[in-house]
Amino acid sequence: MPELPEVESVRRAIAPALEGRTLAAVRIDDVRLTRPEDPLLVAAELTGERVEHVDRRGKYLVVRFASGRALLIHLRMTGSLLREPSGQTHVRAVLSLDDGSEVGYRDVRRFGTWLLLEPGELEPYLGARLGEEPLVAAFTAKGLGQRLHGRRAPLKSALLDQRTLAGLGNIYVDEALWHAKLHPLRPAGSLDRNELRRLHNAIRKALELGIARQGSTLSDYRLPDGSSGSMQREFRAYGRTGEPCNRCGTTLEKIRVAGRGTWFCPHCQPEPFTPSSASRPVRRSAVPVNASRS
Ligand SMILES: [Zn+2]
Repeated sequence: MPELPEVESVRRAIAPALEGRTLAAVRIDDVRLTRPEDPLLVAAELTGERVEHVDRRGKYLVVRFASGRALLIHLRMTGSLLREPSGQTHVRAVLSLDDGSEVGYRDVRRFGTWLLLEPGELEPYLGARLGEEPLVAAFTAKGLGQRLHGRRAPLKSALLDQRTLAGLGNIYVDEALWHAKLHPLRPAGSLDRNELRRLHNAIRKALELGIARQGSTLSDYRLPDGSSGSMQREFRAYGRTGEPCNRCGTTLEKIRVAGRGTWFCPHCQPEPFTPSSASRPVRRSAVPVNASRS
């Protein structure tokens, strides 16, 4: 699923094609894309709108119109925007622009959504669903600590929650926790100041690297010109079961947290030691057996 770096990469690539252009004609072929709204009605409403900016908030693309309306696009699993949609398969919608070009929306699994919001509706809608943007200057280690304070949920679950921070998903949470040397099962509210600082830096580092590599292409994600991202070559944790940790050489492990596959280094990211885990006989020791490797 596209996360912040993938959606940001799409935004950067598609914004020049859309900004300043008027939607001369709009075709939406998939009832699932706009439901419960009728796709014909949404297409009619969009026609004639002039695009002012293409923004991103969390994993949403926000197409802002001069009228004050906004089209909120969520790519979900396999959605993508294309510069030249003709001849492509699984194209669910086409925006015909006033310069004669087209932007298409392609979605193999059809979980993506388009929501047209009236002036004034965007901020309340997003505000109810999303926490802070992790790449803005206002996002600080202290603010992160306030978001996590008192929470007993595993760190991984808390960071996947879009109301904690906007835009992180399974890939970049695992990458950030590896960089921060924090175990995914640490209780979210248990981090000290130094650990919060590490996590804050690590989240930014993982996301910025993801954007610099234009996202990660594991199966469906493509940029609007059809090219792939290359972040998958830079993964330190995600998907690397049985491979050596780049930092210490210990074999990476996979567990499930919040129902999601979760990769970590059992040496660099030590398991949280609690009285309850100490009393359980078959749990791994809080001191890794291969601690001498460093
Ligand atoms: Zn390691």
